[in-house]
Amino acid sequence: MTQFDISLVWFRRDLRDFDHAALHHALMRSRKVVCVFVFDRDILAHLPRADRRVEFIHACLIELDAALHRHGGAMIVRHTRASEAIPKLAAEFKAQAVFANHDYEPAAIARDAEVAAALQRDGREFISFKDQVIFEKNEVLSQTGKPFSVYTPYKNAWLKALALASNGASGADAALATDDRAGKLLAVAQYRIPSLQEIGFERTNLTDLNIATGMQGGAALVEDFRERIARYGETRDYPAIKGPSYLSLHLRFGTVSIRSLVRLAHDAMRSGAGGTGAAVWLNELIWRDFYAMILFQHPHVVERAFKPAYDAIEWERGAEADRLFETWAKGQTGYPLVDAAMAQLNQSGYMHNRLRMVTACFLIKDLGIDWRRGEQYFAEKLNDFDLASNNGGWQWAASSGCDAQPYFRIFNPVTQSEKFDQEGKFIKRYLPQLSKLSAKCIHAPWLAAPLELAAAGVALGQDYPMPVVQHDEARRRTLARYGVVRTPRDDASETD
Ligand code: FAD
Repeated sequence: MTQFDISLVWFRRDLRDFDHAALHHALMRSRKVVCVFVFDRDILAHLPRADRRVEFIHACLIELDAALHRHGGAMIVRHTRASEAIPKLAAEFKAQAVFANHDYEPAAIARDAEVAAALQRDGREFISFKDQVIFEKNEVLSQTGKPFSVYTPYKNAWLKALALASNGASGADAALATDDRAGKLLAVAQYRIPSLQEIGFERTNLTDLNIATGMQGGAALVEDFRERIARYGETRDYPAIKGPSYLSLHLRFGTVSIRSLVRLAHDAMRSGAGGTGAAVWLNELIWRDFYAMILFQHPHVVERAFKPAYDAIEWERGAEADRLFETWAKGQTGYPLVDAAMAQLNQSGYMHNRLRMVTACFLIKDLGIDWRRGEQYFAEKLNDFDLASNNGGWQWAASSGCDAQPYFRIFNPVTQSEKFDQEGKFIKRYLPQLSKLSAKCIHAPWLAAPLELAAAGVALGQDYPMPVVQHDEARRRTLARYGVVRTPRDDASETD
């Protein structure tokens, strides 16, 4: 294998200095390694000026720079177009190769191809690795050699592949060492990390929300979750309970390693300490791999339905649809669980998984609005926004995705509320104006007796909106709307 005198490691969504594929290979194959990150103007241009994700990345870079300093290196941070900056930096440092980790988003693939071509013209190499997922691209295929589009057989094949790989010394979930760095990281004293303001962004409420940043923040969440993993299966669906891991933001920016998380789940399963929860949690990590694979294999999902027939569905348009969309986005639909969930998203950038399903389903199937509008809203607001998982989640809710819920499965927002926030604890946290309503009335305040509403200090239409849509009517309209994709088999099983 070619050895290089100087190499560049280009960090992107992998903001850590341990168990890092590109860094691991660069250290093995180079005499000196330079670490770089680019705040890419092509990406930043589309973001709001106060964006928690940018602030999160910024904090991660400061931590990473300090960590590299301890080993004699530094993180060079540029604010420009990545496709221009990387070939320039490689030339500046006379690097013979640039190492990076794979990204599966169409725009990132195009950018990487542009960078690779520019480097090649200069006689340099672009070398990239799998890092973000356990299995990628064509690594898990059906028996006929095709990519899966149904989750359960994919999951079974994924688990089989992991068991096979783990028999060797370097299993698919084995850590990629980066310890061999002493004396290899290039010190670059003249560079400093630009401030948030210098790259055109403002501070957000990230610190007020106690969102732990960086590798340390990720590690602390992992430790916290280790204690709770056994109960994950029973608690994960209840938004008022601290059930999930809250690691999605760290997985998004790679401050934790997916390999170490899969090992955590496995170890908990093997030792019995993970109860039933560890296997359920591992299943979620496999969904993440699944959607990354789907995006890579079917990039059309970014614009269109995974199942082409669903592109024929006619969504509500015009001023009334815009008004309804606004009520959804602002959390003013009159359905407390939906509104509390949207308040959680708007205030914190996080939304519980159960509520992502409920709110997405509400927008699409109660308001009849194109799933792409909701997908776009989540993309702007979610701290953990990930194109593959977000698109997968939205197409699942719209029934247009691979292995999605059938179109006639329409969540009832009141029943969901009664089931998953029985006492209304979550609702009360985000809608304090409803805090005095009883557990019986809080899920559908418009059905409460006037006396009860008065006693709770709620004037509907003033303190809290009347429902913007009647669920049963909306359900009927949705079934008609989805008529264009109906098959004779659907007619037989059409139930709520
Ligand atoms: P945990 O329950 O602790 O799960 C652990 C990890 O598994 C998550 O961090 C995530 O990486 C992965 N995971 C869990 N559920 C899913 C899933 N359904 N699909 C793919 N991966 C999953 N997840 C994102 O990371 N980014 C998104 O932009 C995103 N958008 C979504 C949009 C919709 C409409 C829906 C229904 C789901 C979306 N999800 C998204 C998936 C899921 O809701 C979040 O990953 C999860 O809520 C994050 O919280 P957590 O880290 O506490 O999850």
